[in-house]
Amino acid sequence: MRQISSEEVYTALPIADCIDVVQAAMIAVSHGKANLPLRWLMPIDNGNAMGIMPGGLYEPHIHGIKLISLYPDNPKRGLSSHQGVILLFDSGDGRPIAAVEASSVTAQRTAAASAAATRALSRPNSRVLAILGAGEQADHHLPAHLAVRPFDEVRVWTRTYTNAQAFAARHAAKAASIRAVTTAREAVAGADVVVTATASPKAILMGEWLEPGQHVNLVGASVASAREIDDAGVARGRYFVDTLAGAKAQAGEYLDALKAGAVTEAHILGEIGKVYDGTLPGRMNDADVTIYKSLGVAAQDLAAAHEVLRRVSGN
Ligand code: NDP
Repeated sequence: MRQISSEEVYTALPIADCIDVVQAAMIAVSHGKANLPLRWLMPIDNGNAMGIMPGGLYEPHIHGIKLISLYPDNPKRGLSSHQGVILLFDSGDGRPIAAVEASSVTAQRTAAASAAATRALSRPNSRVLAILGAGEQADHHLPAHLAVRPFDEVRVWTRTYTNAQAFAARHAAKAASIRAVTTAREAVAGADVVVTATASPKAILMGEWLEPGQHVNLVGASVASAREIDDAGVARGRYFVDTLAGAKAQAGEYLDALKAGAVTEAHILGEIGKVYDGTLPGRMNDADVTIYKSLGVAAQDLAAAHEVLRRVSGN
């Protein structure tokens, strides 16, 4: 069984390639060509948990599982908050074929999933990007977004202003203008694309701030008890999800808005994979607000990990 390190992941699968791999995986998911039981979270202690994410793909014919420790305070120790491994199996004969370092795959595939949604749903001439959050996901969402749209102005906000400043400094060379701002509202005003990538359990993005034409990727809240946007924000846009089953069970923003009567079940227009292959209309006009709710699915991990395995094996 091949063991694959984070360095090999980043080298073998650059973000531009990962975007295409994840997009193809989501098309397969939306056409029933994947087996995706719901993710399970096992609490540990001190607010830590283990995510257990099994899945199977038909093409490539593999199955496997991501086992990922979620340790929100890890960045204070200089470590990723996501620590784990993806085990890949050959579905033809059941053999384990690889153990792939998972924080790198998680970082890459999540940013890739958002960037693919931005490519499909944002206005093509989008040039102002707002990122709420300045952690590991934000670090990867910036280059992923620069790969799909001509952003020349980036605003970053996070809970701790000095972290936003540090983000702007470490990425300064990547775009014409990258600056830290002191409020989320300031970041969002006039932006073309907004990414929320925080560990906040409560709304940090308000619907009343959203402007015609904006595209929003909701990335951070991965469990039913967390949310990053308020009810008005959920209701404000054409709302797409990675998987219907996942969103109906675990998309905190949508579930809260549903409970409050701000939206009905019909508000979820469908899965992003159907937007990618043109079977579901995405943006209808330049004034639409579009929203992609990313919960993250094992199909993205398996597809990305398998592509890394294929490349490092020289196949
Ligand atoms: P990091 O720990 O690296 O960064 C977390 C960020 O969230 C920091 O900018 C932090 O602010 C901010 N933050 C934390 N708590 C709060 C709060 N209460 N209010 C406002 N901001 C807050 O985490 P990652 O970047 O790795 O992950 C970010 C989120 O994305 C997590 O919730 C994670 O579970 C989720 N995620 C989603 C995936 C998906 O597929 N959709 C995949 C992987 C992760 P600061 O430190 O500046 O104070």
